[in-house]
Amino acid sequence: MVMIKSLLIANRGEIACRIIRTARAMGIRTVAVCSQADRKALFVRMADQVVEIGPSPARESYLCADKIIAAALSSGADAIHPGYGFLSENADFAEAVVKAGLIFVGPPAASIRAMGLKDAAKALVEQAGVPVVPGYHGAEQGADFLAAQAGLIGYPVLIKAVAGGGGKGMRKVDAPQDFAAALASAQREGQASFGDPRVLIERYIQSPRHIEIQIFADRHGNCVHLFERDCSLQRRHQKVIEEAPAPDMPQAVREAMGKAAVEAAKAVGYVGAGTIEFIADGANGLTPDGFFFMEMNTRLQVEHPVTELITGLDLVALQLQVASNEPLPFRQSDLAIHGHAVEARLYAEDPERGFLPSTGHLYHLAFPEGEGLRIDAGVEQGDEVTPYYDPMIAKLIAYGPDRATALDRLAKALEDTRVAGPRCNARFLATLCRSPGFRQGHFDTGFIDAHLDALGAVAQPVDGLAALAGLKALLDAENPASRVPVHAPSDPWSICDAFQASGPRRLHRQVLVDGEPFKAELVWPQGAGVEITLSDEQAVLAGPASGKAEAHVTVVGDKAYVLRDARQTLVAFADPSKGGDEHGAADGRIKAPMHGKVVAVMVAVGDSVARGQRLAVVEAMKMEHGLAAPCDGTVAAVHATVGQQIAEGSVMIEIESQAD
Ligand code: ADP
Repeated sequence: MVMIKSLLIANRGEIACRIIRTARAMGIRTVAVCSQADRKALFVRMADQVVEIGPSPARESYLCADKIIAAALSSGADAIHPGYGFLSENADFAEAVVKAGLIFVGPPAASIRAMGLKDAAKALVEQAGVPVVPGYHGAEQGADFLAAQAGLIGYPVLIKAVAGGGGKGMRKVDAPQDFAAALASAQREGQASFGDPRVLIERYIQSPRHIEIQIFADRHGNCVHLFERDCSLQRRHQKVIEEAPAPDMPQAVREAMGKAAVEAAKAVGYVGAGTIEFIADGANGLTPDGFFFMEMNTRLQVEHPVTELITGLDLVALQLQVASNEPLPFRQSDLAIHGHAVEARLYAEDPERGFLPSTGHLYHLAFPEGEGLRIDAGVEQGDEVTPYYDPMIAKLIAYGPDRATALDRLAKALEDTRVAGPRCNARFLATLCRSPGFRQGHFDTGFIDAHLDALGAVAQPVDGLAALAGLKALLDAENPASRVPVHAPSDPWSICDAFQASGPRRLHRQVLVDGEPFKAELVWPQGAGVEITLSDEQAVLAGPASGKAEAHVTVVGDKAYVLRDARQTLVAFADPSKGGDEHGAADGRIKAPMHGKVVAVMVAVGDSVARGQRLAVVEAMKMEHGLAAPCDGTVAAVHATVGQQIAEGSVMIEIESQAD
């Protein structure tokens, strides 16, 4: 029996939901904390109690240690689970929680501190006999000295901010003449992001695989490892797909890595769930002397479910037991790997547009069910993906007796996932799961970047069949009393315009498909449904002869969100009376493409603008998004000001078209 009766979860989204599920199953009362933006979020709906702790930006809510501890005390919670991200690796927070008389579900503050800086952590584990990447991680920080060290290590080298995380403050340098500039820029980024300009230098591992070991320690001196996860599929040093066990892992290497990980954890007096990240040189297969310590994450990882699936353990339950002073219920020799598990991170982002975050309302959200499938979601249909936090929708985790089965199940699940509203990376992930190189185990951390084209993460042509399906749905949904009735084309009395008793009824309408203008010719042949031909100035995009599209359509107002082959196409009529494409540009009204901040407005009322000219820039999720004039014309109104927070869809600028 755990002594925790009531648990506050100092987190949000998917991981808050995940922790609540296990806590509830253990009979523990759950308290959520939430920001204003999360008032109606799924994890808030799931918790037994909720305390609102502040405005939407994380630094005013989820990063406020004092507000969270106050919420725990006022709600009668006796423990705090920090989840991942936010305050989970903040030693001061862990310390303050304990000082307030509460249980911190995580390691002692001293362990977090010892592993907090990459240079100190490397020095510490090296002393414990754990192999580290050859390099320099000392105190001397002069530019010339560091350049000389880089020369000794041998190029290419990697410069890392000692306080770095999330890939920030990291620079690969290929040749000595590039070193000084790369060093300056890594130092600047370290200072700007972490308030610490210090760096370390490592040999750049040429064909690197990211392999990490899950460890668990209790307060009674027991420390075990729960095998490895391979997280080599990354983009910008962020994990995209994770799996357990690692493909082609020799048993001797697994044992050596597990032993090294346990040594590293013991070196800092670790308690609870932790992960030791290693980099392995995959060029000639995995070898017992070919892996090196990178860093330790002193918390639960996003990718912990793959370990749960191959071990049959519930890591959150174990965390709560350990936090309650219970000993681990197993020894190393009791643990074994069963089967194979793969996780994909489903994000509200658009791989075809440089992975731009795509926030907004989830008009439709449905996951498949199937054998060996686990979905850890943070949202449900009808919820919002807000611009304030990480835009993860869910984690899809597939399990099977072997790797091929798990990958097949995951690919199928991704293809059968339906997200309408924000764009998402489902198709990209499915393509990844089916890509031959990855399946054959020929991959390293550069795999995704090297195959962006083949993975479809480049601009794609408009999907004509999806557009046709969307148009049909829009026609069906249009009010019969409106300009174009379409029902029962065989019944002439229901048709009140364009009806020619002597031939098929014919109509032209302007259409926007993913913001691009097309002309639709609609024909109602006698006794048949509507036939649509879509074309632009150059060519026919799709017509009646194009075949039937297997598509799922969600009509919202005057827009149709069409899902075909796990890809979303947005279709809308652009008739002058209706107005508006995805960004509202068709009628000269430039709308904000997403929730965000206006960072630039380049035009004023009365300016004449040319089609394609940049008018304004909106920033969301630290990415800039430019807005261009849809036509030649004159600026009739400007509703946006620099610095303003703007909601998706609100009109920013109005252009009077020259043609009007
Ligand atoms: P962060 O804390 O910013 O995430 P890490 O030290 O964990 O940085 O490294 C992130 C990723 O960068 C790793 O998963 C790996 O892909 C790559 N990487 C790190 N060190 C090296 C190295 N010495 N050689 C090649 N790649 C590396």
